[in-house]
Amino acid sequence: MADATNELSAWLDAAVDPFVACDAHEHICILNSAAERLFGWKREELKGQHVSCIFPQRLREYAGKSLLRYLLSRRDSLGGRAIRVLARRKDGVEVLVELTVGSSGQGEKERIVINFRRLHEVIDTVHEPVEHAARQVKPAPGGGSTNGDSLYRVLVENAPLGIFHFDTTPVVTACNDRFVRIIGSPKRILVGLNLLSLRDEHIQHCVRETLAGRPADYEGEYRSVTVDKRTPVHVRFTPIRDSSGRVEGGVGIVEDITERRRTERERDESLAQLATLFRTAPIGLGFLDTDLRYVRVNDVLAGLNGRPPEAHVGRHPREVLGPTGAAVEQAMRRVLESGEPLEKREATSAELGIPGPLRHMAGSFYPVRAPDGRILGVGVLIEDITDRRRAEEERGRLYREAQEAIRVRDDFLSIASHELKTPLTPLSLRLATLERRLERGEHVDPSTLRHARQHLLRITGLINDLLDASRIEAGRLALHPETTRLDDLVEHVLQSMEVHRGGHTLHFERPSQPVLVRADPYRLEQVISNLVENAFKYSPDGGIIRVALRTRGEMALLSVTDPGIGIPPDQQKLLFDRYFRARNVSSRSYGGLGLGLYISRDIVERHGGRIWVESEVGRGSTFHVALPLLKGATAEPPVEQQGQQHVH
Ligand code: ADP
Repeated sequence: MADATNELSAWLDAAVDPFVACDAHEHICILNSAAERLFGWKREELKGQHVSCIFPQRLREYAGKSLLRYLLSRRDSLGGRAIRVLARRKDGVEVLVELTVGSSGQGEKERIVINFRRLHEVIDTVHEPVEHAARQVKPAPGGGSTNGDSLYRVLVENAPLGIFHFDTTPVVTACNDRFVRIIGSPKRILVGLNLLSLRDEHIQHCVRETLAGRPADYEGEYRSVTVDKRTPVHVRFTPIRDSSGRVEGGVGIVEDITERRRTERERDESLAQLATLFRTAPIGLGFLDTDLRYVRVNDVLAGLNGRPPEAHVGRHPREVLGPTGAAVEQAMRRVLESGEPLEKREATSAELGIPGPLRHMAGSFYPVRAPDGRILGVGVLIEDITDRRRAEEERGRLYREAQEAIRVRDDFLSIASHELKTPLTPLSLRLATLERRLERGEHVDPSTLRHARQHLLRITGLINDLLDASRIEAGRLALHPETTRLDDLVEHVLQSMEVHRGGHTLHFERPSQPVLVRADPYRLEQVISNLVENAFKYSPDGGIIRVALRTRGEMALLSVTDPGIGIPPDQQKLLFDRYFRARNVSSRSYGGLGLGLYISRDIVERHGGRIWVESEVGRGSTFHVALPLLKGATAEPPVEQQGQQHVH
């Protein structure tokens, strides 16, 4: 008999479908392994229990009968066809099953047999009679479990999150539609799925953790088992415990984070773009929080402040920039309080106490707002406008120079016409006198002719100067250098100028040795006579003009000193510019076009020499010309012992 029982239970256990048998009072007496798995109870736990414990409470009584008796009463009308019913697992989860009920024996010997077939679907299809039964069922005494169950269903089905439940095996025993939509596999595949069969080790780890009683989080791309769908999901795994606290399964709450990921990616991308802009912008950018501490600064701002970026973060401007920082902070506080920007405030690096070369900066401070309008801090934008400022200054300078050039040109035209006209009147007078005398056969005084010639020479000189100046401008003033004795040349020029000397005394300090240079003698003569003529012109009659020729190292040094009106210091460096005439010479008292020194400088410099002046207003001037000595010329004795004095 025992063998027969064992054989029967082995046979039952081998059956795929769950099977439960009850006695006449509907107490469970036999169940197979498939039933154990379906309901999550151990055989010993269920044996002797009322069968109603494997159905939801609301179905325990139907149409005034127990569910089993009701089902048995409908056997004939069903004609052996299965009926769908919700069964209830030990962990409270309801699973949809198909069942057939049969009975044998009478009275106490009656045995009721229930054959289950699990449908891998949950809750969503509830047919007669269950739904009907659910509506008709009386509220359970003393508790709202009926309401609780339906509330649970409503919650689960309408939750905006995917929810699945698994037992300790760990097989998915239930899930909502949302979960199905997120995962992309049909519910019949998902329910019954063993979570440990999934390849994702992280999921496996989370499931194990949950079953060990610890909640776990999974975030990753879930790969559908049936279709080629990958879904980025976040799953919160939470253990479920029975009344004794034992873990009897778990729940996974699944969030489809595709959208979140996309938003995060977009945010990361725009942040990266902003960060690049921030880093590479050619202007100083910074952000300070509402406490006015730097949150970030770019390299340009750090450079302008003369401190590395890390020396800013977390600090107040006053800590970074000292007292000026305090003023900056005050301006920023005004921005925070008023919500209005302060734009284009200008300051120099010196005013801001920043070391290094002077720079001009323009700073703007803006309130930085969150989308809801809340002020998050102050944005700083600092521009180094040094170059712009310099360009403005340069423009100003060029404009002033242009104005000056126009003035000089206008002056020049009136001076030039005056200068050219001045000798013409006496010249024509002299010529008229000559003509008259010759007509009358009178004696002609040679001095009249000489004076006429002087005026002619004066005009020729002026015209030559004008021609030379325009040749210089065009780069066409030709030089014909040859080995020249400068001492002889100076002597010769001074002699030829005897006629111009008026009441002046001319001293020449001539070196004892010949001074050889390689030069164009005609052009050098022009330089020497211009300097000596100026000395005559700008010093009072009776003054002594000293001309000295010396050698200094590799150079011949010619100096012309006069006791004249001198040159104001600020004008001295301009003397050699074209048309320039110092402000202490009026065209009435001192004629001239302002070209002589301009031409002289060009000639001297093109000989590799230098020309300059030392002067004091009212005391006189010395013009120096230094020219390179001819290489290989004899060495000179020291300057002090040189020279013979010549007085002309
Ligand atoms: P110009 O004598 O025809 O004006 P220059 O080019 O020779 O032209 O001289 C330029 C200016 O330099 C003069 O107008 C004068 O203001 C100043 N200058 C030149 N030589 C002397 C000097 N020896 N003493 C004082 N001023 C001088």
